[in-house]
Amino acid sequence: MTGEIMTGNEAIARGAFEAGVTVGTAYPGTPSTEILESLARYPGIECNWSANEKVALEVAIGASLEGARVLAAMKHVGVNVAADPLLTLSYIGVGGGLVLVSADDPGMHSSQNEQDNRHYARFAKIPLLEPSDSQEAKNFVIAAMDISEEYDTPVMLRTTTRISHSRTVVKLGERTTTGNRKYQKKPAKHVMLPGFARQRHPFVEKRLLALANEAEKSPFNRIETGTSNEIGIICSGIVYQYVKEAFPSFPVLKLGFTFPLPVKLIEKFCSEVEKILVIEELDPFMAEQIKAHGIRISGYSLFAPIGELSPEIIHDRISRFQKNVNPASAEAPPEKTIPQRPPILCPGCSHRGIFYTLKKLKLRIVGDIGCYTLAALYPLQAMDTCVCMGASIGMALGMEKANPRTSMQTVAVIGDSTFLHSGITPLIDAVYNDSSITVIILDNSTTGMTGHQEHPGTGTTLQGKKNKAVNIAALCRGLGIERVVETDTSDLDTLRRIIEKEVASRELSVIVYRRPCILKSRTSSDPLHIDPEKCNGCKACLQPGCPSIRFLDGKALIDPGTCTGCGLCRQLCKRDAIGIRKKGGNRGHEKD
Ligand code: SF4
Ligand code: SF4
Repeated sequence: MTGEIMTGNEAIARGAFEAGVTVGTAYPGTPSTEILESLARYPGIECNWSANEKVALEVAIGASLEGARVLAAMKHVGVNVAADPLLTLSYIGVGGGLVLVSADDPGMHSSQNEQDNRHYARFAKIPLLEPSDSQEAKNFVIAAMDISEEYDTPVMLRTTTRISHSRTVVKLGERTTTGNRKYQKKPAKHVMLPGFARQRHPFVEKRLLALANEAEKSPFNRIETGTSNEIGIICSGIVYQYVKEAFPSFPVLKLGFTFPLPVKLIEKFCSEVEKILVIEELDPFMAEQIKAHGIRISGYSLFAPIGELSPEIIHDRISRFQKNVNPASAEAPPEKTIPQRPPILCPGCSHRGIFYTLKKLKLRIVGDIGCYTLAALYPLQAMDTCVCMGASIGMALGMEKANPRTSMQTVAVIGDSTFLHSGITPLIDAVYNDSSITVIILDNSTTGMTGHQEHPGTGTTLQGKKNKAVNIAALCRGLGIERVVETDTSDLDTLRRIIEKEVASRELSVIVYRRPCILKSRTSSDPLHIDPEKCNGCKACLQPGCPSIRFLDGKALIDPGTCTGCGLCRQLCKRDAIGIRKKGGNRGHEKD
């Protein structure tokens, strides 16, 4: 048996491969994205990006009922999108094993909230597994497939960013090819009409009891004895690693099968130690259930339900607890001493000019999820709102409903991938409800934020096959929208005229602004240069916030190592100080 160093995401993919999974579905979202990218490299597995997480899970359900073992992966907020089919899937059960990976993001490294998705497993009444390293990530996927089929249930595997992206050694095994289970037509099980659904709910409750017994004997839950029985710690996931680092000699109940909880095992552990601490990242998911079973917990509020934990934080809180010092439970984790580097739009971002123009026009900018959300930050500060995938168009519509005059001052901005994810539905609503808002679809021909994944508008599948591409402008026209403007101009004056005209119109309009992501298209030209003799230090070129320009000794300066030569800053300089460097000299510019 060979070993390999793998991230948690790669290990999940490996586990799916070894478990005989033949279908994988997902919508990209950090920290889950690499699961499907890794899975797609294994032979014999049909993998696809779906338009959104709800669709991904629905495709997974269909494949499972057809008898295939299937893995669906998404980030935590993606499960919100997939929640509708998920809660009924719990009633339907599975054909082939179905595992849903929820990759949570404590600390919000790249997310709009830090919800704790363990609640979803409880909400949907399905089993929950939480690996603590890459080896467990692989093993748990394989076990989850068996649990899924044995108990006729989807299984949730919950990881967090630290598990998804950190690397540990994984022992590799062989692929088991179980073959598709036989498709069975069972309307009473698969058609959730009220009459049938009522019959399935008791099954779900009974299944939970059986799963609780399974958790009691699961090898994923184990007691590790310590050198003293003064304090015992109950934990799961990455927190287990932090605890072992901070207090290696403490007795620990390490839980991997965390819903339903193994209550008898917890009681046994608690009877062996004097004080019990349940350490959890984010919500007191296990602690509340343990308390509800009448089990005494010490220091219930030692850890705030905010942000990521670390060995340092755990060491600090428990040390203070041991000294009987008030641990200041409502505090967020202490500030890190390393300087913060705020994220920023890339140098040469092909969409920086549009946000600069929207800001100059003093429009209300209803934004959406994507890398362009970074336009909300200093110095552009060109975004009023951003809530969730696909929310911009519906929110602009709501503003117009509340105050019809807002449509003349408002634009909804959304990326191509996000539009196809969940922007189409509110746009249909806008057509139907006679809206006159202006929607700008920033089409950079990729899913930029998560690392350039393909989507239905690019015409290339996850596994590299060229397919039909959805034509976004034609789609909008097909919805009945008459004002659909397509442009790829980088000329700021032209852009300004187009936006002014569409915002002033009393009809619903869509501007499809098609300029490829600078990182993906790699069409950068020679870097530009600022002639210090011409530059008067007016700082006009700094306003769009390109990180390639800085200010030194009263003059602007371009970093040739990062400048892509996009020319945006050049359009803003009234003194013609920006151009291509003259050959053989440091001052002045070539004519171009
Ligand atoms: S040309 Fe100007 S705006 Fe474009 S990347 Fe270079 S410095 Fe930035
Ligand atoms: S806009 Fe032109 S003159 Fe003004 S700081 Fe920038 S390079 Fe200098």
